[in-house]
Amino acid sequence: MKTIVLGIESTSHTFGVGIAGIIDGKPSILANEKAQYVPEKGGIHPREASLHHMREGPRVLKRALEKAGVKIDDLDAIAVALGPGLGPCLRVGASIARFLSSYYSKPLVPVNHAVAHVEIGKLVNNLSDPLVIYVSGGNTLIAIQRRKRYRVLGETLDIPLGNLLDTFAREVGLAPPYVVKGMHQVDICAEWGSEFIDLPYTIKGNDLSFSGLLTAALREAKKAKNRRELGNVCLSLRETAFNMLVEVSERALALTGKKEVLLTGGVAANEVLNSKLDKMSRLHDAKYYTVPLEYAGDNGAMIAWTGLLAYLHNIFVDPEKAFVRQRWRLDEVDLPWLPED
Ligand code: AMP
Ligand code: MG
Repeated sequence: MKTIVLGIESTSHTFGVGIAGIIDGKPSILANEKAQYVPEKGGIHPREASLHHMREGPRVLKRALEKAGVKIDDLDAIAVALGPGLGPCLRVGASIARFLSSYYSKPLVPVNHAVAHVEIGKLVNNLSDPLVIYVSGGNTLIAIQRRKRYRVLGETLDIPLGNLLDTFAREVGLAPPYVVKGMHQVDICAEWGSEFIDLPYTIKGNDLSFSGLLTAALREAKKAKNRRELGNVCLSLRETAFNMLVEVSERALALTGKKEVLLTGGVAANEVLNSKLDKMSRLHDAKYYTVPLEYAGDNGAMIAWTGLLAYLHNIFVDPEKAFVRQRWRLDEVDLPWLPED
């Protein structure tokens, strides 16, 4: 017995195709291929990124099928991330998915990108009910599952954590590239510094605000006269931002009494953040989990796996009605595969 689903990711800078299966009762990721748009300068330009996805899409699709050793005819369904994300980018993935679904007569499964980041983290760590911390270029939130949805306990009120680090690195001339050998430019720069500068630490209830921190850090960076002084700003920015996230995570953990903590999303690749959250979790007798690099950033495997879960619960959409949703929140999605509570 096997069920195999192909998933397409194109919400932002990454075009990814993953293939996930349940074969003789065992879940597995059969392929996870991607191509990433890297702007020459500045941030992500949605139209440029979408052109990249159009150019690379067919090649990535072909590689994924070859890697998994399957043909499109072998698939049970086509899944696609319909949101949240950048309109022009989302539409490339949606168009390819609609075409594959119609042409090959395969059911089309809509997937929420944020739900997929959580589900892949649960799959690779074998978790059933963690406190979720989801931090990426476009999202920063803390969630738990309750009554068959993810419920948001706290989130950023303005810019996401990944965006904070990326914008700072770019504005002070350290990026792009944003990440070198798995390290963010802000971490590399933080190693030049040793002194902590007070920067705005803003928590409102269980929500976070990073925009004042960004403005203040950029102001301090402008004053820096050498690498050591810039290093002090990077160090202080990182520590302030991460400590804010740890504080709201700790409050959510204490409140919910969860025994597992899961960090997911692109920023889950950060060693400093992982170590802080690991320590905090231990203090509350909870076990800490993160996602391996391959599944931390945007990827097709997480869409395929979540699509497979949805497919098994008959969640489909007509290709002609598969519209993209740029602002599709995590907590708007009903998830029948979550356990009863
Ligand atoms: P995503 O949007 O999920 O693809 O994640 C991309 C975000 O993750 C970007 O903001 C990256 O800068 C961030 N990111 C990737 N690797 C690291 C790292 N090692 N430390 C901090 N942020 C990272
Ligand atoms: Mg993402």
